[in-house]
Amino acid sequence: MSKSDSTNNDKKTRSKPHKEPAHPSTRIAEDVIADVLSGVKPRFVVDPDKYLQMLWDANPAICEILKGSESLEDARDKVFTYLDHAERAVFSTDDPYHELEKAIVRDCIRVFKSIIGPINEKRTEFSALNCLWKMAKGLKDETPCEISLGFLMEFINLFRGVAGNSNVYREQEEVRKSIPDFLRLDGREAALARSDTLDEMGGTVHKYFKRYPSGLDGEVMAWRQSNRERILRYFNASEDDWSDYRWHLKHVIRTADVVFDLIELSRTRRDAVKKALETHLPFGITPYYLSLMDRNPAVGYDHAIRAQVLPPPNYVEQVALFKEDRSVHLDFMGEHDTSPIDLVTRRYPLICILKPYNTCSQVCVYCQRNWELDEVLSPHAQAGWDEIEKAIEWIAGQKAIGDVLITGGDPGIMNNKIIEKILDKVAAIDHVYRIRFGTRTPVVLPSRFDDDFCDLLARYHEPGRRELAVITHFEHSYEITPESRDAVQRIRRRGLGVYNQCVFTVENSRRFELAKLRRDLRLIGVDPYYTFNMKGKRETGDYMVPIARLLQERKEEARLLPGLDRTDEPVFNVPRMGKNHLRAMQDHRIVMILADGSRVYEFHPWEKYITPMPPYNYVDVPIYEYLEQLAIRGEKIRDYRTIWYYY
Ligand code: SF4
Repeated sequence: MSKSDSTNNDKKTRSKPHKEPAHPSTRIAEDVIADVLSGVKPRFVVDPDKYLQMLWDANPAICEILKGSESLEDARDKVFTYLDHAERAVFSTDDPYHELEKAIVRDCIRVFKSIIGPINEKRTEFSALNCLWKMAKGLKDETPCEISLGFLMEFINLFRGVAGNSNVYREQEEVRKSIPDFLRLDGREAALARSDTLDEMGGTVHKYFKRYPSGLDGEVMAWRQSNRERILRYFNASEDDWSDYRWHLKHVIRTADVVFDLIELSRTRRDAVKKALETHLPFGITPYYLSLMDRNPAVGYDHAIRAQVLPPPNYVEQVALFKEDRSVHLDFMGEHDTSPIDLVTRRYPLICILKPYNTCSQVCVYCQRNWELDEVLSPHAQAGWDEIEKAIEWIAGQKAIGDVLITGGDPGIMNNKIIEKILDKVAAIDHVYRIRFGTRTPVVLPSRFDDDFCDLLARYHEPGRRELAVITHFEHSYEITPESRDAVQRIRRRGLGVYNQCVFTVENSRRFELAKLRRDLRLIGVDPYYTFNMKGKRETGDYMVPIARLLQERKEEARLLPGLDRTDEPVFNVPRMGKNHLRAMQDHRIVMILADGSRVYEFHPWEKYITPMPPYNYVDVPIYEYLEQLAIRGEKIRDYRTIWYYY
């Protein structure tokens, strides 16, 4: 396999063993496929034939074509012909469907054609059409691998979509030919009718927002005050200590005993923390960040905070397994191949990354660079000055570079003197017009942004000549506190912008959870900047969210907010290439659905239309598995049913 062809690699690492039994959970399958509210149904082992029948019922015409085909190629020809006719039909004048349903028909036809294209079968070494054909012929046992419920659900929805029965608009009985009241009326009457509809939508937004309190809510502040007092008592420290970031750095929690003394954890989580420490995985939590965890875990608001720093068992096992060969197995971003000189990464013409410090005050479980970070606050984490100087001199020699992102690790942990020395040298480069300082300290150690540090940074911000901006990383509204708000305000009062890069994980992906974060960020002075789709690292599989959910979130949730609350761009950071903007439909497409229900996407490089580059193929997490995670968390899966139609 060539180095640039990652599909096979991804597939090998993520696909299930041959003939592994289908997942026994059907609660989700019932909910989504049958469109009924469940929630209280017991789990049971399914009869896969029932779902197979649903597949054929979803589009009897396709079923008949597959059944009547003599060979795979015969089936391919006939399905292509059927899809061509279906595509023509949506352009006819007597088609009964609503224009928006027709848009879904067109999308589904495009996706189905792509999946049955021989080139995509060759590239993915898998033929979904072959599986469908064999199943239609009653040769289920001859499919090359076990067909999962996730696969069946993908095709049930796709078949329905092709037939114009997506059910996306099924809540509105009259949708096929109806026109909303406010469009039938005129003037004030129309405006009032429109306002009523918008009130309803707005009510939904606010209803969801209530589910996700921030740390600025009175009750949460009171809990945290008591957490803080408990932690201070434990360390025999004072309130003055608490407001001094050096005290927090000295007391970063790195041993299991202290974690267990201060928060409640299930036995499984305790074992995972112990194992993480035994295998020397980077681990640490600042006392401040620990104070954001609920004393009573039953409250359930702090899930994203716990998940950020307390590694789940599966993660610990996987990282321990590949620890000896990390550079090969876990450098999925291909950083080795985009570093022209030590400490520098470059993937874009005007931008480079400078990494002078290789650790953080605490390590995020799903950090895309955790494969190479040093132990938390390791004394060896800071690069030698000679190395830093050489890296900056290299940047000085690259006249095209105008924007330097200083990150790490977390450079906010370095002492002021070295930060000043680095900034002096970078700012002295004429062609550098922006320095971005990437740090998570406003979230995990906000007292670090005291007046001295903010003054230091502000010295390099010269309007009209050079911008200095702080890039931070809030994941959840529950991380927003009076301390982080004040830190952000101290930065902003000096004229510096503060921007947020967020990673979309299962912990912040429920309906309107990310929308709430955006709104809360704006209120403390942080501009949402990027939302990253998590990449396929096998050790962080439990956190991953399918791309379809990010697209759904953007369309059905973010879009309901005012423009200034949704300034972030959802992106997929393509290994070795750079960011692919997920909203640009022309920059990615589905090429296959694998037996386990994973979608394979082809991502086009950002250089598309500028210079020829090969695309990148990526195997996503199956939608079915993600919905199952949501169901375990008590979500009504029916609320997410349109996810299948986001490609
Ligand atoms: S703070 Fe940033 S660099 Fe450090 S572990 Fe978290 S995501 Fe990674």
